[in-house]
Amino acid sequence: MALKLYNTKNRVLEDFVPLDPSGKMVTMYNCGPTVYNYAHIGNLRAYVFADVLRRTLEASGYAVKQVINITDVGHLVSDADEGEDKMEVARKREGKSAEEIIATYSNAFYEDLAALNIEAAAERGNEAHFPRATHHIEEQKELVEVIAKKGYAYTTSDGIYFDTAKFPRYAEFARLDIAGLQGGARVGLGEKKNITDFALWKFSPKDGQKREQEWDNPLGVSGRGFPGWHIECSAMSRKYLGQPFDIHTGGIDHIPVHHTNEIAQSEAAYDLPLARYWMHSAHMTVNGEKMSKSLGNTYRLFDLIAKDISPLAFRYWLLTANYRTTVNFTWEALEATRSRLLRLHSKIGSWGAKAGRTIKVYEDRFYQYINDDLNTPRVVSLLDELVDDTQISGEDKRATALKFDQVLGLKLHEVPMPEILYISLPDEVKALLAHREQARKAKNFADSDRLRDEIKKLGYEVKDTPGGQEISRM
Ligand code: AMP
Ligand code: ZN
Repeated sequence: MALKLYNTKNRVLEDFVPLDPSGKMVTMYNCGPTVYNYAHIGNLRAYVFADVLRRTLEASGYAVKQVINITDVGHLVSDADEGEDKMEVARKREGKSAEEIIATYSNAFYEDLAALNIEAAAERGNEAHFPRATHHIEEQKELVEVIAKKGYAYTTSDGIYFDTAKFPRYAEFARLDIAGLQGGARVGLGEKKNITDFALWKFSPKDGQKREQEWDNPLGVSGRGFPGWHIECSAMSRKYLGQPFDIHTGGIDHIPVHHTNEIAQSEAAYDLPLARYWMHSAHMTVNGEKMSKSLGNTYRLFDLIAKDISPLAFRYWLLTANYRTTVNFTWEALEATRSRLLRLHSKIGSWGAKAGRTIKVYEDRFYQYINDDLNTPRVVSLLDELVDDTQISGEDKRATALKFDQVLGLKLHEVPMPEILYISLPDEVKALLAHREQARKAKNFADSDRLRDEIKKLGYEVKDTPGGQEISRM
């Protein structure tokens, strides 16, 4: 059965056909994190979604070239062209250099990806897969030059802007009501010509506030500045995946501004589409409100671990909803999925390690569901049905479940599942254990030993086993 994906561009389900003439390779770009703070679990939904998509493509026999950019400059607090650069905010908050901030939060991001069993984690630190905006300033400046040469750019006192009125298709992708936007604008246009115009490049402030991250301006403009937020994605996706490439993803909040602007600048520059399929994951809410740092209602993966919810239980919870459906975070929901996952692990574990055969009727249904725009909720139910099927031998059920797990990524082969087996521990010990787990994964043995000693002082002994850390009271 052909893989069908919901393409935001046309607002319909479409058969997926890759650009690669041999039909083997798929190119995919996922808008990545701004590394000025820890990712919250709402942000992480975007990467679990991209991972399920990658694994689905791989289950269909494609090789996937995946790029997730690291935004380490130019993303302003307002998502538009106003306010301070988020990296500058972090630098001041923590009294550190930009490089230190970038290292801290991109490492934390990679740890989160690994903890969520996201395949891209294996490509950690590889610039062709996780390109950093600050490492691609030349490519971004070049793109600004091309856009300007084609007549789409103009310069104001604070930056170089894209003139959206010159790109007639600007409103198409997000079905924008430009007249409405224009009428509803609360702030003046300033020097911008149109309400939707956006910065390709910003000049460093002239009021004496020195930015740490700045470069010579493009277009021969004197002085220094930094790239706008959108231009990095256009420049780096083109460099690593070509133009057009197959699939571009992000959270739904990217549709009206960030992706609309990426499309305008890339397509204006090269008269080619940027990507063929555009896919967007829905938001995570808390009490019905979007999880976001500005509302102060965010949780990190680490907060879940401290409450005995393993990253994989969180992943499992995400898979119980379709990626295009809003999910509302509650501890009760996560506790329920943790129990369901624990049941799966113990059932599958009880069937031993003897090789079995995958059961065709189940496998067919698995492909039918997953190829239907990644219908993971149905796959998750199918897995329950399989596990409870009394007509099939344990080893065949196990083999079939592990086939599903190539896409679900729940480490169903690992029994018992180490992360869920936290016994009832004081919060302080749990937090140290979680830190130590990250240190171990990063092969930071000095930290790992120090944390072991700290745990010992609290009366617990931690041992490293092939299944992970094991803890007992001394
Ligand atoms: P950022 O690091 O702010 O650039 O965001 C990273 C990703 O998280 C983007 O794809 C956003 O669309 C996505 N995102 C932000 N907030 C949420 C949320 N509450 N739920 C789901 N995704 C989100
Ligand atoms: Zn982007």
